[in-house]
Amino acid sequence: MPDTSFLAWPFFEERHRELAAAIETWCRLHLPVDHGDVDAACRRLVAALGRDGWLAHSAPDPEAGGALDVRALCLTRETLARHDGLADFAFAMQGLGAGAISLFGTPAQRQWLKRTRTGAAIAAFALSEAKSGSDVANIAMRAARDGGDYLLNGEKTWISNGGIADVYVVFARTGEAPGAKGISAFVVPAGVEGLSVIERIEVIAPHPLARMRFEDARVPAAAMIGKPGEGFRIAMATLDVFRTTVGAAALGFARRALDEAIGRARSRRLFEGKLSDLQMVQASIAEMALDVDAAALLVYRAAWTKDIWAKDIGAARVTREAAMAKLFATERAQHVIDKAVQIHGGDGVRRGHIVESLYREIRALRIYEGASEVQKVVIARQALSGA
Ligand SMILES: Cc1cc2nc3c(=O)[nH]c(=O)nc-3n(C[C@H](O)[C@H](O)[C@H](O)COP(=O)(O)OP(=O)(O)OC[C@H]3O[C@@H](n4cnc5c(N)ncnc54)[C@H](O)[C@@H]3O)c2cc1C
Repeated sequence: MPDTSFLAWPFFEERHRELAAAIETWCRLHLPVDHGDVDAACRRLVAALGRDGWLAHSAPDPEAGGALDVRALCLTRETLARHDGLADFAFAMQGLGAGAISLFGTPAQRQWLKRTRTGAAIAAFALSEAKSGSDVANIAMRAARDGGDYLLNGEKTWISNGGIADVYVVFARTGEAPGAKGISAFVVPAGVEGLSVIERIEVIAPHPLARMRFEDARVPAAAMIGKPGEGFRIAMATLDVFRTTVGAAALGFARRALDEAIGRARSRRLFEGKLSDLQMVQASIAEMALDVDAAALLVYRAAWTKDIWAKDIGAARVTREAAMAKLFATERAQHVIDKAVQIHGGDGVRRGHIVESLYREIRALRIYEGASEVQKVVIARQALSGA
């Protein structure tokens, strides 16, 4: 049984505690799913998460208005990740994929949210390119004005949900200025002519992932999110919200690893006693528990800060808090899971064992949405500027 004492922290309201209990019950009933065919599994997960109302937390209701509830996003991701990494992925991408629309979309663009929030449409976030992964301001993909339209040309890679998404938020160079100030964001429906998948990418914790080509893919000027040249700012503001939730997913993986390690240490008999009698094992458990609580504090501080600031003063940035939450939670989760593998001995690396799958699931989180080194650059910049 996972530790739920953190739910009493002052970051949460009663509705968050109710949500945590309800999503836990749902996960116990529906997860884990079979990962054999990840495309089919993700489609089924999005449909189920939409049917049962969980995707409503991934984006605001375009009719009712209101902001994203980042604490709800984080609690949902943490719980899903604790039960099944693919379920967390399916949920998370609906939020990140539609994130720029949620935060900056026009009323017409926000109509997509009705579909992403119910699971009727799958969303994707297309920023990365082969030659400019971490160096986002350097993207090469172009969007050229053609009458009342834009023509998109170029390639994107590492696109989660690439190939199964119904809608992509795509970042492309419109050339108002060099570098970061010459990028714009577009809503691109999957069916648009000239958009194709040119490679499926297999990773150690598989999910739908693709390299995509845009060849004279035509979208109306009304598909632009925000104004020309605002794409970089829109991407960074979107990541400000969703980076915290990556920390929440890492926290879910780490919490599961800690629970599994405790269970194993209590039940495994060695040297005429239990594994948990050994002080070096106790030290590992203590370090794991400390990492989990410290990560939870940083994740839910960032989520609370975003929710409260957003409510009080509008489009607030939580750059420092989000970077700290992602950096610490993902890096320490890797350590926690590694210790859980060690405590399990040979079983820890047995294919299909839960801690073996956690070991694979956690790795990419330290790379995507800004690698750990990038988070350090962000934190240092903020600290040195006195922010
Ligand atoms: C599983 C997975 C899913 C992804 N999903 C998406 C998605 O849906 N949409 C999308 O747009 N992208 C996605 N990505 C891409 C991801 O955001 C990039 O992989 C990431 O930004 C790193 O870019 P890169 O792989 O080109 O590595 P590079 O930019 O080449 O960086 C390599 C390494 O260099 C180091 N480094 C980078 N910058 C610095 C720095 N400033 N200082 C010191 N060291 C540094 C880091 O260790 C980094 O890991 C995904 C990636 C993965 C692995």
